[in-house]
Formats: sequence, C-alpha cells, structure tokens
Amino acid sequence: MTNTLQSYAMGQWHAGTSGTAPIYNAVTGATLGQVSSDGLDFKAMLDYARNVGGPALRRETFHQRAIRLKEMAKYLMARKDEFYALSAATGATKMDSWIDIEGGISTLFVYSSKGRREMPNDQVYLDGNPEQISRHGTFTGQHICVPLEGAAVHINAFNFPCWGMLEKLAPTLLAGVPAIVKPATSTSYLTELMFRRMIESGCFPEGALQLICGRTGDLFEHFTCQDAVAFTGSAATGKMLAQQPAVVENSTRFTMEADSLNCSILGVDVEPGSPEFDLYIKEVVREMTVKAGQKCTAIRRAIVPADRIDAVAEALRARLNKVVVGDPSVEGVTMGSLASLGQREEVRERVRELSAAAEMVYGTLDSFDVMGADGEKGAFISPVVMHCSDPFGRREVHDIEAFGPVSTLMGYNGTEEAIELAKMGQGSLVGSIFTHDDKVARELVLGTAAWHGRLVLINRDCAKESTGHGSPLPHMIHGGPGRAGGGEEMGGIRGVLHYMQRTAIQGSPSMLGHVGGRWIRGGKQTVQAEHVFKKYFEDVQLGDTIDAPERTVTLEDVEHFAEFSGDKFYAHMNEEAAAANEFFEGRVAHGYFIVSAAAGLFVHPDPGPVLANYGLENLRFLTPFYPGDTMKVSFVCKQKINRETDNYGEIRWDTEITNQNDEVVAQYDVLTLVANKPS
Ligand code: NAP
Repeated sequence: MTNTLQSYAMGQWHAGTSGTAPIYNAVTGATLGQVSSDGLDFKAMLDYARNVGGPALRRETFHQRAIRLKEMAKYLMARKDEFYALSAATGATKMDSWIDIEGGISTLFVYSSKGRREMPNDQVYLDGNPEQISRHGTFTGQHICVPLEGAAVHINAFNFPCWGMLEKLAPTLLAGVPAIVKPATSTSYLTELMFRRMIESGCFPEGALQLICGRTGDLFEHFTCQDAVAFTGSAATGKMLAQQPAVVENSTRFTMEADSLNCSILGVDVEPGSPEFDLYIKEVVREMTVKAGQKCTAIRRAIVPADRIDAVAEALRARLNKVVVGDPSVEGVTMGSLASLGQREEVRERVRELSAAAEMVYGTLDSFDVMGADGEKGAFISPVVMHCSDPFGRREVHDIEAFGPVSTLMGYNGTEEAIELAKMGQGSLVGSIFTHDDKVARELVLGTAAWHGRLVLINRDCAKESTGHGSPLPHMIHGGPGRAGGGEEMGGIRGVLHYMQRTAIQGSPSMLGHVGGRWIRGGKQTVQAEHVFKKYFEDVQLGDTIDAPERTVTLEDVEHFAEFSGDKFYAHMNEEAAAANEFFEGRVAHGYFIVSAAAGLFVHPDPGPVLANYGLENLRFLTPFYPGDTMKVSFVCKQKINRETDNYGEIRWDTEITNQNDEVVAQYDVLTLVANKPS
C-alpha cells in the first residue's frame, strides 16, 4: 500500500498532497497511511464518466457487459490472498473477510450469470409484455428500459470495504452506467487495493470506473437528472446528502441504505430445548460477533416470549462466554475489533444511552481480556446483551443503534405484541422469525412485511442451508422502508433497473417490435419460402413465419393418444361426464396432444441448424378443441438471443393454434437453440 491513498480520476491515479487525514490499523492502532482528495476536479470526473465511460458501456449489450463482470470477478478471485492480508487490519476475522471479499466477488459472478440468463443480448431491456391499448391492435404499448446517461456515484460505509463496493458496481455496470466509487475513509485502504486491481485488469473500458479516496468536495453541486447516487451509511449523512440543492433540483435518483434496528423474533411456539430455540441463540450470537456486530443487518432487537426471557438470556450468556475477542490473525480468535477507535467510542456512547432504558445482562464497557493484542490500542469491545423490561414504554431500545456487538432482549405476550414491537423499529432492512409453526410464521410475516425489506424464516427444515439473518444476497432485495432509508439494492435484475430509465413507448406493433427486438402480435410477418428450420441463426429474422399445413383431429387420434400416454382423464374419454363439465360440450382433445400435433405441423424433420427445443413458455389453452375440429398453426420468430460464448443462439417462436372458426385454441412460445453459420 502507498503511504497516501490514491484516487482514480479520468484515467489517472491521483494523491492529494494537502488536507490529508490519517488512517489507522484497527487492531494495533498504528498509522497505516493518509488520505486526501484535494486537487481532484469532481465536475470533470462526472463529465468523464458521462462522456467517456457511459458511451463505451452503452455501445455493448447486456451480455457483453455481463461477460466483463465475470472476467473481473475471476481476476479479483485469483488475487484474493492480498485482500485477505490487508483486510485483517480492519479488525476482520478470516470469516468476516470471506463475507467481504469472496461474498463481494461472488456478487459479480451472480450478476454476470443473471445478466446472460435473464436479460437479452441487446442494448434495450423490455419491461413486461406489450399492452393492448387499441381495439384492432394496430396501436400498441411496450415498456422499455435503457441505461441512464450520467454517472452512478456510490458512497459506501466502512464496514464492508469490498462487498459494499462490488454489490453496487455489479448492477450498475451491467446496466451500462459508469460509476464513481467513494469508500468510507477509515477502511478505504482495502477498497483502494481492490479497485487498483480492477483497473489493472482492464476488464472495463476507460471511464467506466473512477474512485474518490477522501472527501467529495463539490461533487454534489454538479448532478443532473441522468446521475444516480447510491448512499450507504448513517441516516443523518444520507438525509443531508439527499437534500443537496442539485439533487433536489434535478430529481437526481438517490437511494439510501441507512441504519436499521433489525429484529429477530422467537415464535410463541418455540420452547427451550427445541431445535428452533437453539438455532435462535446461535443466530443472535452469530449476528453479534460477525464483523464485531458492524453489520447494517445485524440483530439489534431480540424479541422473545416474555416467559422465556431468562432462558434466552442464560443460553446467550453460555454461548457468548465461548467467544474469543482479539487480533483476528491469531489462531483461536472468533471476534475481531471494530473498524476504528472512534467507532468504539461511538458504540460505548450508544450503550450508555441504552442503559437508561435497559440493563446490561452480558458484557462490559470496561477493559477485558483480548487475545494477542493490546485491548486499548486496538478498537476492541466486548459483546453486550441488554434487557429492556418495558419495551413498549422505552423508545430508546427501538431508536438507538449501537453499531457493534450489541443486542437488546425484549419480551412479548402473544404474537400481536411481537408484531407491534417489530414495527417500533420504524422500518428495517431485515427481520427474522424462528418458528416451526406455519400459522405463526404467516401471522408474523403478514403483520411485519410492510416494515421490512427482507424477512428470513428459520426452522429445523431449512437451517442447515439457510444463509442466515444478516446476509444480503445478490438475488434478493437489500434495503428497507423508513428508518432503513427507503432504498432498494440488488434483488437480481431489479437492482439493474435502478440505473435505467423505464420508458413507455407506443406505436404500431411492427415498429415497436423492431425497436425492442421482440416481435409483437399484429406486427409484420414474412412467410418464408424456405422452411425456417433450415436457416442458421443469423439468417432468421423477426417476423419470419412458417406456412404450416392444417390438421383435422379425429376421435381415434384422441383415443390413440390416451392409450399411448396413459392420460385417460374423463373429459377426453367419457362423453357424458365431459358434457356435464361446465367447460366442455363433450369429449375434448388433450391439451398435450394439441401441442404435440401442432409440432407435427411446424417442425421440419431433417437434420439442420435447429439443434433442440428447450422448452415452452406461457402456454395457455383458451378454447376447447373437439374431435372433428381442424387446427391451424401460426409460428413466428419472436425474439433472437445471440449467445456470446456459444456457437448457437436462442430463438423464441410465437405460436398460436386456432380452429376452423379462427378461435384461438392455444398460445405459447416455443424455445429453440439454433446453430450459428459455420465461419
Ligand atoms: P457515515 O458517517 O454516514 O458515512 C457513510 C459514508 O458517507 C462514508 O463513505 C462517508 O465518507 C460518507 N460521507 C460522510 N459525510 C459525507 C459528506 N458530507 N459528503 C459526502 N460523503 C460523506 O456513516 P458511518 O457512521 O461511517 O457508517 C455507519 C452507519 O452506516 C451505521 O449507522 C450503519 O447502520 C450504516 N450502514 C448501513 C448499511 C446498509 O446497507 N443499510 C450498510 C452498512 C452500514 P467518510 O468516511 O470519508 O466520512
């Protein structure tokens, strides 16, 4: 690490020479270096992102950017050892570092794979199906999403210097938006190292990534409506930044992930000695000690049936007695330090404030045994359990966040009270429920979901594979209402859309189909002289249509299919019983037979570029099809997804079966894999 941390702006590394602030090793208290952003031209950084990084990213498709994410993830993973080595200075144990480093890198992998599976290989994302907005279908509507044309500014908290950066970068870059990362100063040395490797990897085009180590200067004065800010940190800072004039004036998107008094509820059904009771104790202790409790998602309020408070307190004490606090690099240490001495003072102060409303039933604010380090020089603190005997009367226990290994126990009588206590947190990132009773689970979920971004239900059936209360996952939403900031990150592709503009487009089906890269019913069709199954991926065009022959289905066909498949459901086999069914006039053909017979009409039998049928989607049977009816099939190329890394692509065919009266019998999409032209 260099002595003065550097920012990365407009393709250059930059070290501020004045206005430096020192940064410390959290375990030893030794000075690690200094940080300053003096001399950075923040407006020019935003312009560089908008004019250089943005256009380069937008030239590519979602799949191409997704592949870049994967390449960068592999590059970082290959260098994880140096991140682990530096991470120890933040006070993190090996397990804490694993969450931060490998958890962060895995977010890149997940977004890469989701981007390729769930987004088109295109520059525009279609949000939902076309909307029917005219009587005859010549004027239609479609929602599309395109990348914002500004910069995404990520302001991150100190507790996860790697994950905090990567969980925001993954959806941003996949969306096609350049980012400016601003890590929290106290642990920015680890972010800077990882960022350096990201630039070194060359995985993303110039201008896609910039870094500010130190203050943000006049950055907030230059935002436009195309920029987006994703803030993580304290509610006070977040609110102040959200109210900056340029943010308000330009309606700059501002997402806030703030502090949160997350709760964990022990269900009324859970007795000491049961698996759920043990799981609860384990989870509360885990959440207190991982990252020394410096997790925005940690359990701050343990809500338990009042008559089990003593049993829970006793079990927590027994488990916490086994926690070994100390230098995380020393064998046997299970909880490291806080990120800085300042942070320790902050936590102690919050615990003192909590003491007015709750009594300490475990832990101390005085000095205590620390393994392998000087307990005063390093930012060590003992785990602390508080008990509040009047949780409805004392708001402090729902308001004061001690951002360390601190949790408050509170009792309830009846599930309704548990729900009320959970809500007193005024909006949280996450809550967890420990119960083996489905009814209790439903009551608690419906009672508290509106106040949470995520709820985790843990019992003996899922505990082994559970990712736990406090782990945000790239697939699931991270964020929460009210006090938690009202923001939302990740949640799979939902997180990507936060960096895109959703626009409603209206026009003719042909034109909208061309714009969005997906053929829309009513759009132009071209009947192909040559069978489309004989064409390579590149040669098939949207709207290409098969002129398929017709087929009249007989009663013998239906009986043959019933015999052959074994499906002898009465509606196909028994005239009287079928006619008694309000949907049918008599025996009907099997839906599966109709779909199979339709395939017989549109498939070309010879070997050719079509490699496989890999599924049907959105299948609906709309009109009964009777023996004696004649089927017609419309089979139209609806969407093509070119696969960057394979020698074949995916083609989706809009399929509609009608009868002799032009009534729609069935609609669905057929999905095929089609070979690329040999090069
Ligand atoms: P903080 O003081 O609000 O700092 C958060 C970030 O904002 C840091 O990068 C900080 O940079 C930056 N910042 C502070 N003042 C700024 C300003 N005037 N202009 C631009 N940037 C500014 O928060 P903290 O006390 O360090 O972090 C702990 C809090 O974060 C806890 O309350 C915790 O609950 C919350 N948190 C929430 C989540 C979540 O996802 N919801 C995750 C982690 C933590 P400097 O470090 O350079 O000041």
